[in-house]
This record gives sequence, C-alpha cells and structure tokens, in this order.
Amino acid sequence: MTEAATGEVRTQPENLDRLAEAAVHVGLGLQPGQELVMTASLDSLALARRITEHAYRAGASLVTTLFSDEDAALMRYRYAPDAGFDHAAHWLYEGMAAAFRSGAARLAIAGANPALLSNEDPEKVGRANRAVSHAYRPALELITRHEINWTIVASATPAWAMAVFPNDNLDVALSKLWEAIFATTRLNTADPVSAWRAHDAQLQKRAAYMNEKRYFALHYRGPGTDFRLGLAEDHQWLGGGTTAGNGVYCIPNMPTEEIFSAPHKERADGIVTATKPLSHQGTMIEGIQVRFEGGRIVEARATRGQEVLERLIDTDDGARRLGEVALVPHSSPIAQSGIVFLNTLFDENAASHIALGQSYASCLRNGDKLSPEELSARGANDSLIHVDWMIGSAELDIDGITPAGAAEPLMRGGEWAVSV
Ligand code: ZN
Ligand code: ZN
Repeated sequence: MTEAATGEVRTQPENLDRLAEAAVHVGLGLQPGQELVMTASLDSLALARRITEHAYRAGASLVTTLFSDEDAALMRYRYAPDAGFDHAAHWLYEGMAAAFRSGAARLAIAGANPALLSNEDPEKVGRANRAVSHAYRPALELITRHEINWTIVASATPAWAMAVFPNDNLDVALSKLWEAIFATTRLNTADPVSAWRAHDAQLQKRAAYMNEKRYFALHYRGPGTDFRLGLAEDHQWLGGGTTAGNGVYCIPNMPTEEIFSAPHKERADGIVTATKPLSHQGTMIEGIQVRFEGGRIVEARATRGQEVLERLIDTDDGARRLGEVALVPHSSPIAQSGIVFLNTLFDENAASHIALGQSYASCLRNGDKLSPEELSARGANDSLIHVDWMIGSAELDIDGITPAGAAEPLMRGGEWAVSV
C-alpha cells in the first residue's frame, strides 16, 4: 500500500495501473491509430498487460509485445554451440526497424536481473552483445535520432528485487522495489500527469539555461576525479520531453532527472572515477577508473569486471570515446532514496554521468538533418555501444568553462550552484 500525498491509500494493482497510464499518456504520448512495439521480460507480464490495455484505450491500432525469458537466455550459455555467439536474430531487429519506419511507437519495460550473466564466459557475453548491437543498429538509430516516440519504464521483477535488497525475503524485496519505482516515477501524488508536466517544465528551463551559456567545456573535480570535458560544436542540452521526428511529444525515460548533451569526442582529458557500480547487459562492473587523453580512454581499470570493461571499450574506436554528458543534482529523488538500483534507468538519474559510445544526434542543433560526416565534424561520437556510467556524488564540483576560458561554478557538492 502507498500513502499518497492526498492521504489517499492505493493498492499495488492501482499503482501499477497508474504507472501504465502514465507510460502510455505521458511517456509515449501514444497517438490514436498508432502501432506500439513493446519489449518485456516474462517477469513483467502484469505491467505489460496494464500497458496493453491503456494503449488500446488510447486508440492503438495494434500492440505487439516481444517477451523474453531469462532462464532461456542462460540455457544458451550452457548448451549452445560456440559459433552461435556471433549470431543475432537479424530478422527480428530488421522487423523492429521496419515497424518504427512505418510509424510504430516503442516502449521498453526494464527490470532485468542485473547479474544474470555474471558467471558466464565474458568472451561469449561480449560476442553475443556485439552481434546484437550490429543487428539492432538500424532500429537504434531511429531511436537515437528521436524519429519516433519512445519510452522506457520499469517493472519490479524477482531477480532484480533480490539483487537490490539481498537481505530481505522475496515478497518484501519485491514490494520495496515496487514502492521505489512508484515513488521515483512520481506516482505518489494526487495527479501524476500534472506532476510530470511540472517536472518536465523545470528540466526544460535548466536545459534552456545551459543552452544560453554555451559552455566550451566542463571541469569536474571530486574524489578520484579531475577531468575536463569539451562540448560538441552546436551542442544542445536536452531534458525531459522532446518532440520526436514524427511530431509526437514524448518523455523517453520514466523516471528522468537529467539534462544531457553531446561532448566533443576529441576533447576529454584527465581521470574519472565511477561513483556507482555499473550493471551492463547482465554483468557487474565496479570501481571503474579511466584516464582520457584527447577524448580517448588510454587507461581503464575496474575492481570487478575488468575484462568486461576492456571488451566493452574494444567494441570499436568510438567505444573508447564519450557520446553523452548528463547533469543530475544529488537531491534527485532517486539519489535521495539511497537505493542503488543496479539498473541504468534509475542509477543514471541519481547522479551526473557520462556515456561511452554513440551520441544522440538530437543533442546537436539540427542534428537529425546532419549527415554522419557533418555530425562527426562537430565532435559527435559514433559507436555500436552507448553505455552510461555514474560519476556524480555529493562531493562533486563542476565548473562551466566559457569559450574565453573563464570558469563559472555550475555544481557545488553535487547541487546546482545557480537556480533557474
Ligand atoms: Zn543520460
Ligand atoms: Zn545515456
């Protein structure tokens, strides 16, 4: 049960229904007559069904859900022939890209077991991820270019709940994780849809402030971090919702607390230390510390999952460079929950972060109209991967560096130094 701000008490099924409603109406902005392609694990069936109902009631012409099964994924590692790990279901990803091109919206339900593949051979995990990245690329491009409306929401699942709350029994862990999802997704208010609109407006204001400043670079200082990161030419800060290429207004992540932009792929220098563990495609990478020179990682260490990290940054040349810079105050409700979610959708909204790999074209002025060469000339990065990792904390200071080279306080002790 959830104590709502109004004093009203809601049951978990009621909150699940409100989450589905917000995902369809606020996150996706699903249009009457639009198709929806959803991906979900079998453990998220309850939420997937609530979303399906709300999508049809909003006028969806067809909802197609691609369900995955984690036990089946593990069987592959136990029994499949070695050569199979370089193979992905190209036909499936081509089909998804075709659906997006023909106007379908995209909804992903997050909630995977963060450590599913931790005990599997990192070499096989790396090959399988690479094969999927290749196959998914055409579909992912439509997403990173914001050509369609899309969103990601989360469902609590047994394995995820036990990973986050290992000392509780399953029922307690599941209900704690659901409560955390409902709270950080702003459902514990009388009117979640208005709460989301107000929050979205605040993120837009912060992004507008940064766009007016037009900083040349950011300088980060904190424990184990002294790092200067250039911003791409014609970069744009975004936050909250965007109008996708198909004209539909959507909020791509629920929750979202970040404003983000495109760094310059050749202008990152210094040492950065991660402040949270990273769960990457079912493996854990902890204690990341990397050194950049001229935008490129020249040294990378991790206290756990070093091999996975090395394979990740060896994916292609762009995997060693940065494609996203995002600012999140430490007062974010996700940081304040004190929970390490072991899931990027949540953890990236608890802390300032950077991402290895692919840039979002929408983070450059008129980016969706620029060719790959034009994007690259402005400093946007190109890679098969896009992996966010958290570098923010209550001890992080960030300065904005003006084109003339002056330093202005942007964040102090993890909080915005200037209000908007
Ligand atoms: Zn981000
Ligand atoms: Zn990202």
